[in-house]
Amino acid sequence: MASRLFLRSALSLRRASRCASSSSSSSFRFVSSSGFCSSSGTPGFHPLPVSDAAVGIEQPAPESSLVVDRSGLFNTPEHSHGPGPSEETPMAKHLKALIRFRGGPITVAEYMEEVLTNPNAGFYMNRDVFGTHGDFVTSPDISQMFGEMVGVWSMCLWHQMGQPEAVNIIELGPGRGTLMADLLRGTAKFKDFSQTLSVHLVECSPALRKIQHETLKCVYKGGAEEKPTADGQNSEVVDDRISQISGVPVAWHFDLDQVPRGVPTIIIAHEFYDALPIHQFQKSPRGWCEKLVDVAEDDCQGLRFVLSPGPTAASKLFLTRRMKWASLQEKAEIEHVEVCPQAMKVTADIAKRVGGDGGGALIVDYGDSKIVSDSLQAIKKHEFVHVLDSPGNADLSAYVDFAALKHVVEDAAVYGPITQSQFLGALGINFRLESLVQNATDEQAEALQLGYWRLVGDGPAPWLDSDDDVNRVPPGMGSRYKALVVVNDKYGAPVGFQ
Ligand code: SAH
Repeated sequence: MASRLFLRSALSLRRASRCASSSSSSSFRFVSSSGFCSSSGTPGFHPLPVSDAAVGIEQPAPESSLVVDRSGLFNTPEHSHGPGPSEETPMAKHLKALIRFRGGPITVAEYMEEVLTNPNAGFYMNRDVFGTHGDFVTSPDISQMFGEMVGVWSMCLWHQMGQPEAVNIIELGPGRGTLMADLLRGTAKFKDFSQTLSVHLVECSPALRKIQHETLKCVYKGGAEEKPTADGQNSEVVDDRISQISGVPVAWHFDLDQVPRGVPTIIIAHEFYDALPIHQFQKSPRGWCEKLVDVAEDDCQGLRFVLSPGPTAASKLFLTRRMKWASLQEKAEIEHVEVCPQAMKVTADIAKRVGGDGGGALIVDYGDSKIVSDSLQAIKKHEFVHVLDSPGNADLSAYVDFAALKHVVEDAAVYGPITQSQFLGALGINFRLESLVQNATDEQAEALQLGYWRLVGDGPAPWLDSDDDVNRVPPGMGSRYKALVVVNDKYGAPVGFQ
C-alpha cells in the first residue's frame, strides 16, 4: 500500500533530478481575444482594470480581469504536456471546450478547481478516492490513533476554552469521515466533553457525504435510516441526523460560511488545504509571468502549459502580496512561486470565527514555512501522473504555504507549524500505542506499530535493508506533515504548541 506521501516524495526526487520548472496560474476569467492583435515578439496582453474591491483576500477571486492574446504566450517546454497524449477524459473534453469558449487559456487555479470539484466530472465528486483500491491513503486511514490524538487535542482545547456547554466541531474536507469517527469514538466516554458537540462537516462531494454518513453511523432523528420527509404532503426534507457513535448531531455544508456562528468552535482541517486551487507564477526574461493551461496545438495531444506574456492581474494581486512577506534570500533566489488565495481566505475566516466566537482550529497538511515553489502534482491509483494527464481521474494537490497562512491571521493567535511527529508525540501517541498493543493479537500489534511508525517516523523505514522493496513500507510522515493552530487569543498556546 503506497501512501500519498510516499508517492509525493518519489516525485520530488524525480523532479529534482530533472530540474523541472514551475508553473503559474491565476483564477481569472479570460475573455475572447478576438479584436486584440499583437505583433510577434510583443506580448499582446491587455489587462483590464482591477477593481479595488478585488484587492485583498476578503474578496472573491477577481473575474473578467484579463485578456490574453495567444500569440504572446510562451510554451513552457518542460511542462508542455505529459509523456504522451492526455487521456481524453470527459473532464479533458470539458476543459478544451471551456478554453475554446473563452478564447484563451485558463489559469492553473481554474484548472485545479474544475478537475477536483466540478459537479459533473470532478475527481472528488462521484466516488471514493481513498484507500488501497482508491488513489491515495491518508493518516486517518493508516491508524485509528490519528483521529484519537486529534480528539485528545480537541478535549484539551475545550478545557482551555472554559468547558463551554455547546461546541460546534467543524471538519473541513472530511474524506471518508474516518478522522471524525475515531475522534467521536475516542472521546465518547468523556461525556462532559462529548455531549457538548455538534458536528459540522464541510464537504462538496455528494459521494463522499454518503460515505461520511455511513462511517459516522448516522441515522435521522427518530431512528430512521432513510431520509424522511417533513410530512406526507410536503416534499421538504428533514435533515436532522445524529451519529450513533456518540449520539451527537451531524450536519453537512458546502463551505465554512454556511456553518452557524455564535457558538464556540473547534475546527479541524486535515489534508484539506492541499486540495485548494493554487496560482503558479514563474520568473522569465519578461518579468514574473503566470502559468496557464491551453489546448495543445495538435489537438490530439490534449492540454499544454503556456506562460502569460507578462504580468497578469493575479500576479499583480497575489504574487505581489506574497512577495511582501518573503525574506531577502527568498526574493533573490526564487524563480517559481505558488500562491493559494483560497487557503488564505479560509484561514482569515477561521481566525475571525474563533476570535469572535471562541475556540480554535487545527490545520494538518504537508507543506513548508516558506514560499512554495513548484509542488503541484497528480496521483492516480497510487502512481504519479503528469498534472495535465487524465484530468478528473487523478488527484491534484500542492504543498501548503504555512508562512502565508500565518500572515493572514488577525484577531486570533497562531502557533506552529510543528511537525506531525512533535504534535502526536506531545499528545501521548506512544502511550496510546502501548495500551492498544497490550490487548492486541500479534498480527494486530504489528499493524499498530507499523501505523505508528508511518505517522511519526521520518524517511525510509529503518528496518528495511537494501534488498527490500521500499514500496512495501512507504517513508514516515512525521516531519513532512506539519500542524498549525489558530486559537482565540485569550487561551494561550494549546497542548503541543507551548
Ligand atoms: N481529510 C480527509 C480527506 C482529505 S482529501 C483525510 O485526511 O483523509 C480532501 C477532502 O476535501 C475531500 O473530502 C474533498 O471532497 C474535500 N474538498 C476538496 N475541496 C473542497 C472544497 N472546495 N469544498 C469542500 N470540500 C472540499
